[in-house]
Amino acid sequence: MPRLTAMAGGPTLWVKRDDCTGLATGGNKTRKLEFLVADALAQGADTLITLGATQSNHVRQTAAAAAKVGLDCEVVLAAQVPQTSETYKRNGNVVLDHLLGARVHAVSGDADLTFALQEVSEGVRRRGGKPYVIPVGGSNPTGALGYVSCALEILQQAADRGVRIDAVVHATGSAGTQAGLIVGFESAQSGVDVLGISVRHPRELQEEAIQVLVDATCAHVKLRHRIDASRVTANSDYVGAGYGIETPGMIDAVRQTARLEGLLLDPVYSGKAMDGLFDLCRKGAFIKGQNVVFLHTGGQAGLFAYEPSFAAERI
Ligand SMILES: *Cc1c(COP(=O)(O)O)cnc(C)c1O
Repeated sequence: MPRLTAMAGGPTLWVKRDDCTGLATGGNKTRKLEFLVADALAQGADTLITLGATQSNHVRQTAAAAAKVGLDCEVVLAAQVPQTSETYKRNGNVVLDHLLGARVHAVSGDADLTFALQEVSEGVRRRGGKPYVIPVGGSNPTGALGYVSCALEILQQAADRGVRIDAVVHATGSAGTQAGLIVGFESAQSGVDVLGISVRHPRELQEEAIQVLVDATCAHVKLRHRIDASRVTANSDYVGAGYGIETPGMIDAVRQTARLEGLLLDPVYSGKAMDGLFDLCRKGAFIKGQNVVFLHTGGQAGLFAYEPSFAAERI
């Protein structure tokens, strides 16, 4: 990203375009679903069930994956984010969930989600179907395999270009992306640092969630090598007031990236992650001569749900 590199004035910035993974506007959940859907098919399931916040990108990609392989899809959308505009409730990913044929069960923000998933699963069974339940964000050891393989792909692409990568920076939420990347980069002994910019939890809680999934993923792939806790790092300085709530830094990062690279970020994840990356460059956490890869995890469909926030800032 030459123009963002010049603006940030520090390391050479690259982007890994996981917003271009396909599946109805793409995003990071597609790599996880590659493994999760294979597991569902191997088990003879006929219905994918998952859950997320109203504007979940994971839910939208799951609905698209189900459509592509000919499975039914039922989703629980929880109104967890304090956004009250009709645009937030109906536009963006919600339009696509319906368009892709998912059966949507909308619940309140404080609903018991374990119970809601059980109810939906029982409904499928009563109709003679076989459900396959995917956890929030597709983040279990099966889903994380998508990002073990992504780490190896990044190393191959860097080697092909003769570039030595120092760090990968991306948005971290349900932790599967970061856990998979860490297992991939560490298993290859690459020395690449992985920094997750948290979009929800404080640092300790986020790092703990990543560590638990790193260990489970290592066990799943029978990797003996124990990954040291020092390799698991998250930064929670760019969350703002909470998950799905806009920050001035996010709006600014989304706008700068659009205007300098013609590249679209999203308001909930990649916009906050890019805000973090710019700020860390300003503070000298990354320096000239280093190669830093921004993993673009997608989510642009969410831009349309946040239209009022960007309109208010229109210049
Ligand atoms: C889900 C998501 C993330 C976070 O990935 P996790 O594996 O849940 O940590 C980042 N960016 C976007 C756009 C997402 O939809």
